[in-house]
Amino acid sequence: MPDAANDDDNVVLLLPGTSGTTPEAPLVVRLREALDASDELILVVEPSGRVLFANRSARDQLGLSPQDAVFRGIEALLSGDRREHVWRALEDSQAWRGDMATTRADGSTIQLEVALLADAIDSGDIRSLTVIANDVGERRALEDALTHRTNHDGLTGLANRPHLLATLNELLADPDVQRRAGTLLLLDIDEFRTVTNSLGHEAGDRVLVAFAYRLLRTFPADATLARVGGDEFAVFCPGDGDLDALVEQIQQLTRAPFFIDGTEVHLSVVTGMAVTTPAEPASSGEAMLREADAAAYRAKERGRGTFEVFAPQLHSDAVDRLDVVSDLRRALRQEELAVEYQPKVDLATGTIVGAEALMRWRTPDGEMRQPGSFMQVAEDTGLIIDMGRWILHRACADAAAMADSLGASIRFSVNLSVRQLDHPSCADDVALALETAGIGPDRIELEVTESALMNDVGASADVLNRLKDLGVRIAVDDFGTGYSSLQYLQKLPVDVLKVDRSFVAGLGTSSGDHAIVGAVVQLAEALELVAVAEGVETPEQLQLLRELGCAEAQGYFMARPMPFEDFRDLLARRPVW
Ligand code: C2E
Ligand code: CA
Ligand code: CA
Repeated sequence: MPDAANDDDNVVLLLPGTSGTTPEAPLVVRLREALDASDELILVVEPSGRVLFANRSARDQLGLSPQDAVFRGIEALLSGDRREHVWRALEDSQAWRGDMATTRADGSTIQLEVALLADAIDSGDIRSLTVIANDVGERRALEDALTHRTNHDGLTGLANRPHLLATLNELLADPDVQRRAGTLLLLDIDEFRTVTNSLGHEAGDRVLVAFAYRLLRTFPADATLARVGGDEFAVFCPGDGDLDALVEQIQQLTRAPFFIDGTEVHLSVVTGMAVTTPAEPASSGEAMLREADAAAYRAKERGRGTFEVFAPQLHSDAVDRLDVVSDLRRALRQEELAVEYQPKVDLATGTIVGAEALMRWRTPDGEMRQPGSFMQVAEDTGLIIDMGRWILHRACADAAAMADSLGASIRFSVNLSVRQLDHPSCADDVALALETAGIGPDRIELEVTESALMNDVGASADVLNRLKDLGVRIAVDDFGTGYSSLQYLQKLPVDVLKVDRSFVAGLGTSSGDHAIVGAVVQLAEALELVAVAEGVETPEQLQLLRELGCAEAQGYFMARPMPFEDFRDLLARRPVW
């Protein structure tokens, strides 16, 4: 750099006596070169800040010129707040060390770690000072970057395994015992290899980054997020941990697809959980990770998207809930779902005219579970979509079989949840089920609860119109419990009002209920709808419903829900109520 060397000659400030035309002694040249090579800022200054010598680093960083060769930082140091302190140190030991900030040539701030050496003190007067300074701002940034790199996963920027373990161990050793609590989730992406096989490694990496980002958005700020293996992530949530909320968050993670280079990628994860509580603390971070790992391993055996908890002391509701989710997925796969039919009776003739299909779940241990124990979870997780399709096809197939064996034109009612109603394929699903079974739309009725309809009346009207176009009958279920606006009701293409069981239960004992049932029946008449009563348990209730002019009824008094074969047998006996 010959130009720079020339510049240097102009800029460099030498000790008195060596400037000007006098050629430099070889040793001085050598020293100057050595000082210039240093990254440290090395200067000789007068207490006023006037620079007598500056090496290359100092000249570059401080932007000194022959016209303005003043190191203002020194001036400030020797006359500012720290003056007393600095002078005393210099007088006592000819040296002072400390931090100072000053401005760079470009006006930005430079943070320096400084050693000041007083060259000569004459009766309390310092003639010159040697300054050796390091730009610590840069070093700190570098240090930070280095620690970050050793603590974090290079691809996703999340914590790495050692850092996660350190965090866990730190928490488990917290002097405040109550704070030694938290839940560790180990999330393993299902069949990640399929993703990389089909999209390539780079896209696979992008999926991992996108997943990490979703973790960041989903879990609270106090959670530690880590990538602990190729496609394995860990989330540690300190505190008591609301497991229900965690479950919701895990489900949130994979609910929406990932878009990678325009390709839609659907992921599911198996989750293993380990919990530590003040009462039963984990022995170490390593132990917790092992437990979560073991739980994830067991979950994997049960299939995609499942959970396992490694913690006997967990509060049992949440565990039940987790189990239900895992088990329901399996139930769908392994055809553990079943259906029972409850007859509907025409009150004018007393004969069976229809049946409501009610979902049951026959678990591997032979238990027959009722919807009350799993329907909500199915709704929350979206599993209801597939379960709903299943029962639609089942009911349509049974309707076809019934017509073949008895020639009876029984109408089968199927419940549709709000989740199904909102689903874009709702009407197509129904059409496909009818077509597959080869039955006419008049064989099927769909029951939608009043609250589901009122959830979004505009959207409901669209879907119901499409269903109506198929030719199926539509019933408003649990009528009287929601907040129906009659105005809306009139606009929706519905055919049936099902009087909620709670009002029927009060028939004969509560005059209020009697009045409500009567009003619903009259409303149905006015709107040209069919009134159906559900939950009829006594002959008195049946009698009163007849008197009120209700068209159809179902309930334990006539028949409980039963398997298809039993229903067929019952129908063959042509009972009359
Ligand atoms: P729902 O649609 O109101 O169904 C009627 C419920 O009342 C059924 O309960 C039935 O067994 C019960 N029931 C019938 N007669 C009587 C009676 O005389 N007394 C009493 N106390 N109860 C009676 P289940 O089968 O437990 O179903 C509960 C709810 O689960 C259903 O209420 C429905 O909302 C939902 N559900 C059932 N199957 C399905 C399904 O396939 N899809 C959807 N989305 N929901 C379903
Ligand atoms: Ca129903
Ligand atoms: Ca109902």
